Amino acid sequence: MPDPFPTGHKAPSPGTYLRLRRVAAGVSLEALGLATETDPPRCARERVEWLRQIEADVAVIGADVVEALQRFFSFDRHVLYILVAIHAGAELDTPAICASCGCSWSDACVIQEIGRNCRWSADDPTRCSAPACRPATEQGSVAA
Ligand SMILES: [Zn+2]
Ligand SMILES: [Zn+2]
Repeated sequence: MPDPFPTGHKAPSPGTYLRLRRVAAGVSLEALGLATETDPPRCARERVEWLRQIEADVAVIGADVVEALQRFFSFDRHVLYILVAIHAGAELDTPAICASCGCSWSDACVIQEIGRNCRWSADDPTRCSAPACRPATEQGSVAA
């Protein structure tokens, strides 16, 4: 991505950010619930509910959560910490995050077709140029 701070980005909540990155990685909440471990141990159904509460910004995103989730999908810890601070009321610059997949400067998508990282879309500077993030109206013209 050529510019880490293009304009027009709105800060998603920390839970929304984690959801965007999880969905972009193709990991379901159920699969994550089965794979994660908690201390004290909880059953898979409780873990799915706990993950849901994290993504709804109800459960606290502590260091243990960051450690657990980072083993299953990629996200930028630094971005997450900034979003947690903004969500708590801190007045910080909003990190540039793709509104569609949640990728960011140091956690950019790799576009397999061209073997390069994504950039900001020229048409919509809040989205990256990865094929899955193009607006639906554009998708038909991509292959042409
Ligand atoms: Zn994207
Ligand atoms: Zn991207």
